[in-house]
Amino acid sequence: MRLSLTRFTDLGLNDSILSAIAEQGYETPTPIQARAIPQVLAGRDLIGLAQTGTGKTAAFVLPLIHQLLAENKQAPGRSCRALILAPTRELAAQIEEQVRAYTAHTRLTSAVIFGGVKAGPQIKTLARGVDILVATPGRLLDHLGERKARLDLTSFVVLDEADQMLDLGFIPAIRKLLRLVGKERQTLMFSATMVPAIRQLADDFLSNPETVAVTPPSKPVERIDQKVLYTEAADKPEALIDLMAPEAGKRTIIFTRTKHGADRVAKRLVKYGHKANAIHGDKSQNQRTRALDAFKSGESPVLVATDIAARGIDVDGVDLVVNYELPNVAENYVHRIGRTARAGATGRAVALCAPDERVMLKDIEKTMGVAIAGLNDAPPMPKGEAAKSKSRRRGGRRGQGQGQGEGAPSGQKRGGASGKPRQGGEDARGGKPQRNRRSGGGGQRRGPSATAAE
Ligand code: AMP
Repeated sequence: MRLSLTRFTDLGLNDSILSAIAEQGYETPTPIQARAIPQVLAGRDLIGLAQTGTGKTAAFVLPLIHQLLAENKQAPGRSCRALILAPTRELAAQIEEQVRAYTAHTRLTSAVIFGGVKAGPQIKTLARGVDILVATPGRLLDHLGERKARLDLTSFVVLDEADQMLDLGFIPAIRKLLRLVGKERQTLMFSATMVPAIRQLADDFLSNPETVAVTPPSKPVERIDQKVLYTEAADKPEALIDLMAPEAGKRTIIFTRTKHGADRVAKRLVKYGHKANAIHGDKSQNQRTRALDAFKSGESPVLVATDIAARGIDVDGVDLVVNYELPNVAENYVHRIGRTARAGATGRAVALCAPDERVMLKDIEKTMGVAIAGLNDAPPMPKGEAAKSKSRRRGGRRGQGQGQGEGAPSGQKRGGASGKPRQGGEDARGGKPQRNRRSGGGGQRRGPSATAAE
């Protein structure tokens, strides 16, 4: 991670925050932190253009904590002082883990709320009031609709990964939520890209915002050894087993287009001696958390995932990304392979490419501006596929449906008239109740967060 010349002690953050930062082992603020923290401390609304991996979470959480400590107010019942909205359950949980770490030396409380788990414990936690609430939009709207939550006394709002919210169809829900937050507030918005719909959202809900943009240290694609293996679709199961044989025990993420595909691939890998789990939107929250923990710890180093389930997974040390099927959207390929080569490391990516995916491969190469070397010779391009390539590109990004195979309707909006994401979004998906995970060493932290999603 690229670091700036500013020191954390230059930023004027509360000592309890500086202690927590030191415990995390952070020595210097990242560029987004060095530039965003002073703006937030000055009370400005902010648009942060930054991707995951730039340290953006701490860029908004640290000054937020400072502001809350300076205010020294009590959290309002059925509500929160600061609200952080995230597109997926995984991301919400990861943000709250960071909030816990950074508030470890304060009396501030935090909680996380997302769909797919029982509402009761969340309502109970909210009733007492929390300082920092991390939530996915759908479930929070449910609580608001049932008058179990209120936002009129909330004075800080962070919208994280706004572009993912857009892709998942959550913008109507976000607009509805933002209208319910008190006018006297500070609003921060983070997004990797600034597309017109996100610009409009900022214009409508942010007041004279400062914009801070950072580019990632170096494009991960430059640090990834990418290969493609040409194969018939029917031969993919066998090709994958061959490909994975020398990779046993290495941390690998395999992407499939569909949930069933993910299950099938994981099963087959297990049959051939690999320790593998599937993660997708039909898995209960418990199963997803267990699979992710086993992947992180190395106990089960192979994770077979769909795009939506994998979004926001922040695991360093992924050796290999396999695209069992190519994604329909070229940008998703870049997201997928970005799972390897994190934190400055180099990584490897292999795509299995069937004849009907050749068009996609071409789009991907064009998007990245690099040709992907073949592990075998490319058969001639099937007739008619080249023509398809052109019409695909004209189709644009949103219409391709990021959540293919995850129940995400192509080009449709998920938010209905109610502004609530329809079933099919990760946020709205069913699942079993789950105990909140903590990133080790917890236990002493007071606060209701441990019960929020039980
Ligand atoms: P994010 O972009 O928020 O997803 O952060 C990416 C990773 O960088 C997380 O694992 C953070 O714990 C880590 N991180 C955040 N800030 C710093 C920093 N100043 N120095 C080193 N690592 C950091």
